[in-house]
Amino acid sequence: MANVTREDFSVAAATNASAYRRVTIPVLRIEAGPGPAVALIAGVHGDEWEGQAAILDLWQQLPEILQRGTVYLLPAVNAEASLAGTRLSPSDGGNLNRAFLGEPARGYTESIAAALEARLLPRVQAMVDVHSGGASLRYLPSSVITRYGNDAYDERLPALARAFGLPDCVFFRGGEAGSMPAAASRHGVLRLSAEIGGGRETSQSLADSCRDGLLGCLAELGLLSRPESAHPAQDAQVRLYDLDTPAATLRARESGVFVPAVELGQSVAAQQPIGRLIEPARPNVPPRPLLSPQAGTVVCLRPIARSDDGDCLLQVAPALPLDSLASRY
Ligand SMILES: [Zn+2]
Repeated sequence: MANVTREDFSVAAATNASAYRRVTIPVLRIEAGPGPAVALIAGVHGDEWEGQAAILDLWQQLPEILQRGTVYLLPAVNAEASLAGTRLSPSDGGNLNRAFLGEPARGYTESIAAALEARLLPRVQAMVDVHSGGASLRYLPSSVITRYGNDAYDERLPALARAFGLPDCVFFRGGEAGSMPAAASRHGVLRLSAEIGGGRETSQSLADSCRDGLLGCLAELGLLSRPESAHPAQDAQVRLYDLDTPAATLRARESGVFVPAVELGQSVAAQQPIGRLIEPARPNVPPRPLLSPQAGTVVCLRPIARSDDGDCLLQVAPALPLDSLASRY
């Protein structure tokens, strides 16, 4: 039986209604002897539910099954945003994925980031940081590999993506020094992420697939035997989508009601109509056709109809073999 301790921390989050208010961030440390230390994190954006539900399940299950090493569980690392159901922190509007800016921390969101940099990242060798589309996007459930800056290619990354068990994997490049990938890179922490579901909803099946993916990653990292429920994907089965290229993202260029004509996972041709923007309250405004910016698979779709200039409506990229990942470095 593993040794289990709560390592919650709290940060100041003053509002006009509560001068000395603090918000508690729940952390569970599960230690099962020598071995690697791994952090499983969700809720960097408070409205992304699948990882939060999955890690909360592991809060109960993992102490019984962890065989080696140490795991830190943070099911709702931006607890204030999770409680409010919002992407950003209500008290200061901060985006935790842009808040790793070093000391001195200014306000609630940067204080969480500073605490993670001081207390957590120096103590772990790997992390899985689960995201989803949140309220305003919906993703084809995918593992995510983010290259920050000039990070060198690490062959453990495709192995972790396979261990997560999903047939789709998204590739991003990150250049913002305040992001979680940047902080992980500074600390030499191996980081896999995920984009699972989205919209204002979630489901048990998505949470279960996320939990199995996290267990698969812990098995890959040597902390437990591969669970029966985990099904590592074979190389040939994992499709890689590079969403970093400008042509991968279609944004609205004016306001309107987005009526998509495609679904997640659908293959589209370049310049294929993928939907339209309409303005029902102004019948004289003609529908504006929307065309796919490139050929590929629809990986991300906006689930909110009313849209405005600059909103991301769709992401599409060609499916590449996972073993082409090294060529992105
Ligand atoms: Zn997110």
